Amino acid sequence: MGFIQRIAEGAKSVGSRARDFGEIAGDRARDLTRKSSDLIEVTKMKHELRKMEKEMENNLAGIGALYYQKQQGREDTGDELNRLIESTRQLEIELKDLEDQIESMQPKPAVCPECNSELEEDVKFCSNCGRKVVD
Ligand SMILES: [Zn+2]
Repeated sequence: MGFIQRIAEGAKSVGSRARDFGEIAGDRARDLTRKSSDLIEVTKMKHELRKMEKEMENNLAGIGALYYQKQQGREDTGDELNRLIESTRQLEIELKDLEDQIESMQPKPAVCPECNSELEEDVKFCSNCGRKVVD
């Protein structure tokens, strides 16, 4: 089997797995939202995110290979291509959701109520505007 074909064949199976995986990750992410902002959960979610990004790379490589085959006149690639594109679209949505959830669970640095600049830990006054920031 040629190089392009191998990528395309790989993409076909990646496409179907990616869709299942996306749904699982989405369910997981929704479960996690209900929990408190636990650093361990954020770490797990980041791990999921990296796996999904890898899937995304594979999908995009596969789409490229399938598209190339289609242009070469392989008629049986059209359906696979559409399926993979749809699957990748869903994966992209799941990825964005997960990114947003991770972002919302990250501890935010304290900011000055006056000028909104980030505060160093354990300071009594804002280093930018001098406002007192301890209670
Ligand atoms: Zn300030």
